[in-house]
Amino acid sequence: MEPEDDIPEVDHHQALTLLQQGWLPLDVREPAEYAEGQLPGAVNAPLSQLQSLMEHCGLPQLADKHKPLLVYCAAGVRSLIAAEWLLEDGHTQVVSLREGLQGWKARQQPLEWPDEDEPAGERYARQMILDEVGIDGQKRLQQSRVLIVGAGGLGSPVAWYLAAAGVGHITLVDDDRVERSNLQRQILHTDAAVGEEKVFSARRSLLALNPEIHIEARAERLDDNLAESLFPQHDLIIDGSDNFPTRYRINDLCTRLGKPFVYGAVQGFSGQLGLFTPGRRSQPCYRCLYPQAPEGVPTCAEAGVLGAMPGWVGTMQANLALQWLLGLADDLRGQLLLVDGRAMDVRKVTVPADENCPTCGQNASRN
Ligand SMILES: [Zn+2]
Repeated sequence: MEPEDDIPEVDHHQALTLLQQGWLPLDVREPAEYAEGQLPGAVNAPLSQLQSLMEHCGLPQLADKHKPLLVYCAAGVRSLIAAEWLLEDGHTQVVSLREGLQGWKARQQPLEWPDEDEPAGERYARQMILDEVGIDGQKRLQQSRVLIVGAGGLGSPVAWYLAAAGVGHITLVDDDRVERSNLQRQILHTDAAVGEEKVFSARRSLLALNPEIHIEARAERLDDNLAESLFPQHDLIIDGSDNFPTRYRINDLCTRLGKPFVYGAVQGFSGQLGLFTPGRRSQPCYRCLYPQAPEGVPTCAEAGVLGAMPGWVGTMQANLALQWLLGLADDLRGQLLLVDGRAMDVRKVTVPADENCPTCGQNASRN
């Protein structure tokens, strides 16, 4: 990423004049750096997300390519790269602030501090007026880290709604690539993404929806090593996988770590989901329900599925996940929801903890 030599640069003095003339300050630092202060009126476009924001019109302020832009970062290097990208993208007036915010601060130029504790009001207004959410709940979502295993039929609606609700950090794990036969139900992906790794296609979609959150894309299969390294860094795990080995891997590790997870599965017109908080007193785990993989369960490819079924179940998983993160789902733990998509019926049954369960029972090996 070597920037060209001919990107126009301005010093702090010229920059101040440009600001007074209505140039838009574009901050290309990463969100963790905002606490250092920002230029007055700055719009955030982290360099790591800028390409995606440009490609998908993720920032309304960049829609007018004749809008003059004063790009800055911490020291004036990343802003050169960003300025070059913006010029290549057709923006007509772009300059980079030499020496960045450090130089700006050293010369005591005016600064603004974003109120870190105040979630962006407009985006979340419709949920923040709920008594169950409010500003405190929104902050909880913003500080939450959720891992979604699978960016397919279930992972798509889950990720869409968690991203839209402002869950601050979402990690996606999936080693598949988008196929055209996925698009009928895996609504994170578009026809243009066929052939691409699902997690990268998904990240682009989610950041276009909400550029204020962080999306970590892991184009890997969830094996034991990856699970061991990722699970402890997350508050909640969501099972959007389509196979029993992965489901058991999630359950067994979550039980060992005492980590909550939201399970979901769809087959034909039937769906199931539930919130498990294994490793806590008298709470069941998934193996209490299914000690071993049932035999002869066909996959979606074999049995067929209407796209709205994983859409429905995944949306309910998202609802469960958000409620858990907001501290509202205590009574929903260990409840299995059974969805009948033909009769349009949802039943709730309590899963008893099995004291002989090989994973969470009293004789389970916990190593
Ligand atoms: Zn169990």
